Amino acid sequence: MYDYLIVGSGLYGSISAYELNKKGYKVLVLEKRNHIGGNIYTENICDINVHKYGAHIFHTSNKDVWNYINQFAEFNNYINSPVARYKNELYNLPFNMNTFTKLWPDVFTPSEAKAKIEAERKDSYKENPTNLEEQAINLVGKTIYEKLIKGYTAKQWGKKCSELPAFIIKRLPVRFTFDNNYFNDRYQGIPIGGYTKIIEKMLDGIEVKLNVDYLKEKDKYNKIAKNIIYTGALDAYYDYQYGALEYRTVRFETEILDEVNHQGNAVINYTDYEVPYTRIIEHKHFEFDSTSPKTIISKEYSKTWEKGDEPYYPINDEKNNELYNKYKDLANKESNIHFGGRLGSYKYYDMDKVILEALNYINSIK
Ligand code: UDP
Repeated sequence: MYDYLIVGSGLYGSISAYELNKKGYKVLVLEKRNHIGGNIYTENICDINVHKYGAHIFHTSNKDVWNYINQFAEFNNYINSPVARYKNELYNLPFNMNTFTKLWPDVFTPSEAKAKIEAERKDSYKENPTNLEEQAINLVGKTIYEKLIKGYTAKQWGKKCSELPAFIIKRLPVRFTFDNNYFNDRYQGIPIGGYTKIIEKMLDGIEVKLNVDYLKEKDKYNKIAKNIIYTGALDAYYDYQYGALEYRTVRFETEILDEVNHQGNAVINYTDYEVPYTRIIEHKHFEFDSTSPKTIISKEYSKTWEKGDEPYYPINDEKNNELYNKYKDLANKESNIHFGGRLGSYKYYDMDKVILEALNYINSIK
């Protein structure tokens, strides 16, 4: 008999397992895939840590979270500075003085950049933006919206910007300094040796079963544990009885190339609608010590999630949030099962939020 059965060995499940094991509970982790780590899983190929389920860049402003994750790995000083390619033009992201001066050759100073953006948004400024298009134009004006936001966002979400919630774009900083750091957070980096090592350390000494689809053998596993922590999709747990929540999923086309440096940066976003992928990741640039004579790139194609696909991004619009709340009502009535993590919570979470959520949950256990 186990005290805790943990379904899913991603960040939420693995932190829960580690902390509960430390408290002396007997824990079993079940993992559907043939490896641990969920979507932060990295695999070393040709001496390069490949982010198999998309680029994960750790960033947080929470010192406790930063100290917590540093127990399990040393982080390098990678700072995410993506470049956007719009047709044959290259721009620095996030939107900052490097972007503005390249876009408008008559702009040299922050006040000139502000005046230009003001002129560009004047006619369409909305006091209370209700969708992503309005929010984006309010923030940076029409040209940047057209070149760097419209196509990329439509590809990523499969919907027009005017049909998307405004909050998505609030992730992106707009700066009037020459600073290409994509995140505003105090701490940032990539774990040296890859993310999988973090999860291995967390699960060290804990029983883990790979290739087990809990939902298919629920009755059997429920009998052997007093409590369950389920980190999969909530709608799947309830067999989609109210209908499926919407997600975006990502398909990666990964290639090993016979060259040392393919694109000169870890992340290049393709912001025009015509290029079918959203971005190309060149994994070795997340690290600074790869001596590999080869390089590995992944093209990311975004698409609507269908049953059987891996869910990546929850679509947190009103309709889906309402549906999620119906499932949440069911979940709240359960007595010995807890739902957590990005999928269990149906939230567009960054890794630091997942860590915080897991630690808060563990602390709430008597
Ligand atoms: N975004 C954009 N152009 C870009 C990068 C981002 O318009 O070149 C917007 C877009 O609306 C996207 C959101 O910012 O949905 C968040 O993008 P990001 O790449 O940060 O998301 P991630 O996949 O890294 O979580």
